Amino acid sequence: DKEYVGFATLPNQVHRKSVKKGFDFTLMVAGESGLGKSTLVNSLFLTDMYRDRKLLNAEERITQTVEITKHVVDIEEKGVKLRLTIVDTPGFGEAVNNTECWKPVADYIDQQFEQYFRDESGLNRKNIQDNRVHCCLYFISPFGHGLRPLDVEFMRALHQRVNIVPILAKADTLTPSEVERKKSKIREEIERYGIRIYQFPECDSDEDEDFKLQDQALKESIPFAVIGSNMVVEAKGRRVRGRLYPWGIVEVENPAHCDFVKLRTMLVKTHMQDLKDVTRETHYENYRAQCIQSMTR
Ligand code: GDP
Ligand code: MG
Repeated sequence: DKEYVGFATLPNQVHRKSVKKGFDFTLMVAGESGLGKSTLVNSLFLTDMYRDRKLLNAEERITQTVEITKHVVDIEEKGVKLRLTIVDTPGFGEAVNNTECWKPVADYIDQQFEQYFRDESGLNRKNIQDNRVHCCLYFISPFGHGLRPLDVEFMRALHQRVNIVPILAKADTLTPSEVERKKSKIREEIERYGIRIYQFPECDSDEDEDFKLQDQALKESIPFAVIGSNMVVEAKGRRVRGRLYPWGIVEVENPAHCDFVKLRTMLVKTHMQDLKDVTRETHYENYRAQCIQSMTR
């Protein structure tokens, strides 16, 4: 019973031409340290991204000086190839002074745009390697009362640069009603502070009812409450990814326990292409317009 991440449905999202070349996608994780970012990424893609750190190339050594690290994995499912880049950002919140802790992250995103912009105006335009960040999972602590000032500052610094998907971390430490309360508080604060998170596209009117319902459920789940685990445990005779407690097991992939499956469905099965489109059409265009403006001044 091999587990699947599920991106084999990617070709449905895009033109067939890209199937042969494979897909690439860059996902960033950000937020306070210890909220389970690395664990979740491993759970999402069923890989141990952080096992092999020997493969450092020059580029990684450079980014490491600002503590942003990049992991690239090639995964293949049912003949569909995905080159996944994970950008792990330094966890903040522990330092005494967190002023502008978002700066290196914002700079990193801009640098990828800058590189792309340069390549695009170069001679080898056909074979540009696209390192633009397509999505940023922003982790929010389950122990606070909604957003912390730092969360607001961080997301506001990034929202014009990248698609932000807010995550309520370590949902297993909360009761279901606490999860709902925190979610609505966070949604309210996102609105109040003018944070522009990733907006799910409107459903096409010709989509079937099931699809529309699924889409609606997805939108209402924001921020996704997730549980990560790198452990496989035994639950009622089945082997599942989960966390073991004296009172029982919480299952990562059980929709009754958390939004993990929703998040993964959205990232790899339904919205990967839209995240890339919005990156190109909105965030990159913003950057490009600024560049051109400053060149003509
Ligand atoms: P990061 O600093 O944000 O990358 O956090 P890590 O992934 O390194 O996880 C920090 C600690 O939290 C580890 O001991 C994990 O086992 C634990 N952890 C990760 N995800 C969860 C979760 O969903 N629930 C709980 N209770 N613990 C978690
Ligand atoms: Mg980490």
